[in-house]
Amino acid sequence: MRQDGRGLQEIRKVKIQSNILRKSEGSVLVSVGDTKIICRGSVKESSEFLKGTGTGWITASCKNITGNTIHSRSKERNRKEFNKVTTQISNLIENSLLAVTELAILGERVIHIDCDILQIDGDFIAPCITAAFTTLRLVVDGLLQKKLVATDPLQESIAAINTGILATGECAVDLTEDESMGSLATMLLVMTESGRFVECHSSGKMTTFKGQQLNECLIYGQAAIEDVLAYQKEALFLDIETKEKVDSQTIIIATGNMGKAREFSSMFQKAGYKIKTMNDFPELPEVEETGKTFEENARLKAETIAHLLKCPVLADDSGLKVDALDGRPGVYSARFAGEQKSDAANNAKLLYELTNIPDEKRAAQFHCTLVFAAPQKESLVVEADWNGHIGRIPRGENGFGYDPLFIVDGLDKTAAELPENEKNAISHRGQAMAKLQEKWQVWLNQQE
Ligand code: IMP
Repeated sequence: MRQDGRGLQEIRKVKIQSNILRKSEGSVLVSVGDTKIICRGSVKESSEFLKGTGTGWITASCKNITGNTIHSRSKERNRKEFNKVTTQISNLIENSLLAVTELAILGERVIHIDCDILQIDGDFIAPCITAAFTTLRLVVDGLLQKKLVATDPLQESIAAINTGILATGECAVDLTEDESMGSLATMLLVMTESGRFVECHSSGKMTTFKGQQLNECLIYGQAAIEDVLAYQKEALFLDIETKEKVDSQTIIIATGNMGKAREFSSMFQKAGYKIKTMNDFPELPEVEETGKTFEENARLKAETIAHLLKCPVLADDSGLKVDALDGRPGVYSARFAGEQKSDAANNAKLLYELTNIPDEKRAAQFHCTLVFAAPQKESLVVEADWNGHIGRIPRGENGFGYDPLFIVDGLDKTAAELPENEKNAISHRGQAMAKLQEKWQVWLNQQE
């Protein structure tokens, strides 16, 4: 067990966010634990020094903007020494990027990658290299999209990690600052997707180490880089997909249920927006409904997806609240009788729990919360209740869920006995949509 509770082969939390800056041909923010690096890419066409060569070039520079000194084993490195280190890192980055780039395909242009180290916690060289490659990938994607290069000059992806031999003699990946300071040796690995190496540096810290320990570092390091490559792919993939699937006239309905999506989409379509649903983004992970309230769940879905896809997203959360059950099943309506989410089992459980409750105490409401989220905006939230009471036997063939047991106030019919359009006009979702209809366009066009 390590100081921070990680296993020896476990990397710290990695987060890679792509295209975070507006005026840049590619930008990336990488965090590995508390180490944070920001990278920006730029392209210089027809560079003077390449004239007549027919090939391109890649340069990199790395700056420490933390204002911190970094610690060596015996003393603090001063600024001058740090500058030397960042020059070495710049060279390492350049070397890694050049190793996987077909320069002739780039044409006579220079791509420059600028890395700023925002915060340091342990290793920052590996995150710099990973961030720089991710940025290069984005810049090259831009060139491909603009048809400035005909084919992809990047042969494969690369990522980096640092491993080392701890004071205990054990090998570990992604060392923290303290671990690194006390280590017997550290190793920097830069590896491609297919498992080929660009860099493999290790040095002992005033001590010797065994070949077997080195092999262990290598094997652990390879597995750790595969993890980092997966994060990198996710960041890049989402971005490329997004560009193709979403534009400024797209609104996403965060549901895979086409019935619901149809109900929600008409008001947006009438205003000229294109609608996509979660079925259009099978690559996105499902957002788990871990909230304790309808609003928390709807916010989770809408705000997570709006952040990932950078466009407006509508999400709903709904359910049944029964007075005699103190508002249950509430947010757990879908899985009231268990994770298999069966309507029949849910209805049976509801009838069982209400067995001894007299008719006048069986009041219930269907509730719906809608959250409309968009990047850099405070979400718009509306909600509505549909009043009724719970019957004793299921009635009606339409609808879904608890509809056959929900007797609508003032109608003496269950929700399952109403034709679809009639239900939609008065239901909790229908009422919430009517509220949203009054507000969404003003909200969407408002500058924050
Ligand atoms: P969700 O908002 O799709 O997660 O819905 C949660 C659960 O609430 C559903 O699985 C149903 O059990 C219940 N529910 C929500 N709206 C209705 C409705 O209009 N009729 C019947 N059951 C509903």
